[in-house]
Amino acid sequence: MTELHAAEVWRAVLGDLQLQVTRPVYETWLRDTEAVSFSDDLLYVGVSTPFAIEWLERRMYQTVVATARRVVGHTVDVRFQVGPQPAPTGEGPRQVAPAAHPDVPPRPAPGILNSHYTFSQFVVGTSNRLPDSAARAVAEAPGRTYNPLFIHSGVGLGKTHLLHAIAHTCVSRGLSFRYATTEQFTNEFIGSIKNRTTEEFRHKYRDPQVLLIDDIQFLNGKEQTQEVFFHTFNELHDSNRQVVLTSDRPPGALSSLEDRLRSRFAWGLVAGIQPPDLETRTAIVRKKAEQMHLSLDEDIMELVAKVVRRNVRELEGSLNRILALSRLLGGPVTTSLASQALADLLYKPTPGTMDPDAVIEEVARYYRVTPQDLSGSTRRKHISRARHIAMYILRRDVGMKDTDIGRIMGNRAHSTVIAAVAKIESAILKDPQLQKDLLAVKEAVLR
Ligand code: ADP
Ligand code: MG
Repeated sequence: MTELHAAEVWRAVLGDLQLQVTRPVYETWLRDTEAVSFSDDLLYVGVSTPFAIEWLERRMYQTVVATARRVVGHTVDVRFQVGPQPAPTGEGPRQVAPAAHPDVPPRPAPGILNSHYTFSQFVVGTSNRLPDSAARAVAEAPGRTYNPLFIHSGVGLGKTHLLHAIAHTCVSRGLSFRYATTEQFTNEFIGSIKNRTTEEFRHKYRDPQVLLIDDIQFLNGKEQTQEVFFHTFNELHDSNRQVVLTSDRPPGALSSLEDRLRSRFAWGLVAGIQPPDLETRTAIVRKKAEQMHLSLDEDIMELVAKVVRRNVRELEGSLNRILALSRLLGGPVTTSLASQALADLLYKPTPGTMDPDAVIEEVARYYRVTPQDLSGSTRRKHISRARHIAMYILRRDVGMKDTDIGRIMGNRAHSTVIAAVAKIESAILKDPQLQKDLLAVKEAVLR
């Protein structure tokens, strides 16, 4: 996407925020906002009252900025103002100060459950089957199966989702539980010392039947908090109450954690979530599209699942972009619209991840020619097309220099490579079949 429109960007941000915050929060504070302008990486958003500005700045600022950043793909700042009129020059809208705790991750209000994060909305595949069934088991019989349950994974793969799902199950089964992020636990502990409310703090975390603590890696290096968490853990565990923890790495890799904690974390079950495979990604896209009331062709769902490989949050972001663009253009979601929405993902060079020989081999295989044909001098249309595609991928995805590409492809001049790349570049935007071919080849190279 080159020219991002303010309304389009904000709609995509709202779509994403809607998945991050509870419905009442969304409806009260976000639903009726609108974009005012977007330029110089500064997005102005109109809200209805000064009170709303204050609330959004205080409670949502980091989340909004982080989301906008994700949507746009680079750093942006967001300012709120009352009403939809562009601010008069001279006295611009107020500068927003970032929230007070720089080390608090930019996530929605801590401790509040996201209504979408339930077991029924969690798509299970080989990459997450164990953590999913373990989470269900502890929700059904807290303290009686795996205790603690320790779930770890890279970012955006569903840890928080599973914790919330356990909490939702507790709600429906009438079990007492406490859900908190490690930051929240830490801040409340420090606050309780300052305010002399340690007894309350104690009860809060030691009374419930189920304790759910998110992102326990943030205990690293916090000695006092580790100490109090150790006692909390022991008391719960000793009385067969359930503890569930998540972390961005397995217990053994939490290097600045006390040994006694590290070993306790591995007492029950340690389950990792792997990045989902293509089939699971496709199923997730289907589920999220349903949730967003976005009707998509099979082809397009597969396109999204193929292009976005790293994590599920990015899958959602991609759907939001598609939704925003289709609203903006007011038409159905076609392959070409989806490709346009995902342009930067589709055609982003990923240096180092692809092997040049593999590219040539896969292009040859795909077009049913030989690697020698590609570096040879035949000008048969179908061969020269394949040759151009190989050059294009080597340039844009492998990140090779034009001269090097020319050299490995039959000692061609670098100007030939430049022309070939330009040709494919302009063809891509008009030719959905070419987009699919490119994806298929890249997919094969990366496999
Ligand atoms: P983490 O806590 O591991 O960083 P989250 O739990 O916040 O990741 O997940 C990021 C987003 O991806 C959430 O919106 C979540 O609902 C979604 N998600 C992750 N895994 C799945 C899955 N298997 N099925 C459905 N949604 C998923
Ligand atoms: Mg999380």
